[in-house]
Amino acid sequence: MAEFTMELNDEQKEVRDWLHGFAADVIRPAAAEWDEREETPWPIIQEAAKVGIYSLDFYAQQYFDPTGLGIPMAMEELFWGDAGIALSIVGTGLAAVGVLANGTEEQIGTWIPQMYGDVNDVKVAAFCSSEPDAGSDVASMRTRAVYDEAKDEWVLNGTKTWATNGGIANVHVVVAVVDSELGSKGHASFIVPPNTPGLSQGQKFQKHGIRASHTAEVVLEDVRIPGSCLLGGKEKLDERLARARERAKSGGERVKNAAMATFEASRPAVGAMAVGTARAAYEEALEYAKTRTQFGRPIIDNQGVAFQLADMRTSVDAARLLVWRASWMAVNGKQFTAAEGSMSKLFASETAKKVTGQAIQILGGNGYTREYPVERMHRDAAIYTIFEGTSEIQRLVIARTLAGMPIR
Ligand SMILES: Cc1cc2nc3c(=O)[nH]c(=O)nc-3n(C[C@H](O)[C@H](O)[C@H](O)COP(=O)(O)OP(=O)(O)OC[C@H]3O[C@@H](n4cnc5c(N)ncnc54)[C@H](O)[C@@H]3O)c2cc1C
Repeated sequence: MAEFTMELNDEQKEVRDWLHGFAADVIRPAAAEWDEREETPWPIIQEAAKVGIYSLDFYAQQYFDPTGLGIPMAMEELFWGDAGIALSIVGTGLAAVGVLANGTEEQIGTWIPQMYGDVNDVKVAAFCSSEPDAGSDVASMRTRAVYDEAKDEWVLNGTKTWATNGGIANVHVVVAVVDSELGSKGHASFIVPPNTPGLSQGQKFQKHGIRASHTAEVVLEDVRIPGSCLLGGKEKLDERLARARERAKSGGERVKNAAMATFEASRPAVGAMAVGTARAAYEEALEYAKTRTQFGRPIIDNQGVAFQLADMRTSVDAARLLVWRASWMAVNGKQFTAAEGSMSKLFASETAKKVTGQAIQILGGNGYTREYPVERMHRDAAIYTIFEGTSEIQRLVIARTLAGMPIR
């Protein structure tokens, strides 16, 4: 087990500087354009693929970094560049993690390369869980997966919503109900291969922020997929369902929810994205406060401005520490006894919203315009308290964990 450290080693510093260079030279200069276009920035994803940032290898290397700092450091730098473009680059990774977590070796080897495509023909992937009536309340999901034994095929029907890269993805990972009696324990994940008939994009959402990232509904109408597209395989699913039915019969013994443990491990990555946006806004505000003169002196000479900057920097650093701690815990198999993953996501996302708002205030009228990036950063920051579990849901998870209550 690696000791917790706040110091990046030489190799990590090299990767961080390389990512920062890409974020500063490629992502940030393109941010305003793709925000206005509200389109997937394919040329930037391709650039990222060319230099090796858009690839499973890169994320796997960061993910398996025993210090736990690889992923948060990478997310912070990319999202420092721009949240919308960075999400377009890392969105595929969210779907890939779904396959890595639940898939067999053969499924991982078959589908993950198709999620990324290659440098000359980059592809993206989507993870589709949320539905119009099942957001925070995942257990009320309605998309059904029915097994057609004669053909060894699964048939999917339902409507997914809010899917990042939904409809434009080469590979969709879809969560569906296989046993409606068992709540979220009756769910399973499926691969929908490229060009499968019956899968179509519904409405594409026009959003407040992260507008370079594509978000859309995904409609599934009699989507037939081979039996081999059930992640983990039928035997494993049948065993899992049998155990869940047994437990339900015996009065629902309280068991550790594996999905919750996975969330605790993935939430710090979203926290790190928020740290990136918050740090970017803080840096813009600091620079502006040092150079903008009013009443014959730089505005940072006013305690009212300087103290805000002090608070902003303190919050950004505190958020990073919570994120790094939770990430280190996840990689080293530490038990999340106080929902430390949720804590990191809660604090970092609320910090990003607050700090980007303070940055607008410090830039005054300029902060309120699209001539300066803090307005975009503030719009982008609002997503962090919503996706991957809202702030209210994080508080609920933390409180129930502290109380020793089950989290469904
Ligand atoms: C830009 C974007 C990208 C997304 N990408 C994906 C994706 O790739 N894949 C995917 O599957 N999903 C994705 N999502 C969906 C996201 O995870 C959901 O929006 C989120 O889980 C909240 O669900 P909801 O929008 O239905 O809100 P609701 O669950 O309806 O919540 C509405 C409000 O009620 C509050 N609330 C709900 N229940 C409680 C409670 N028990 N106690 C207190 N307050 C409560 C919430 O906190 C919130 O403030 C994305 C969403 C957005 C906006």
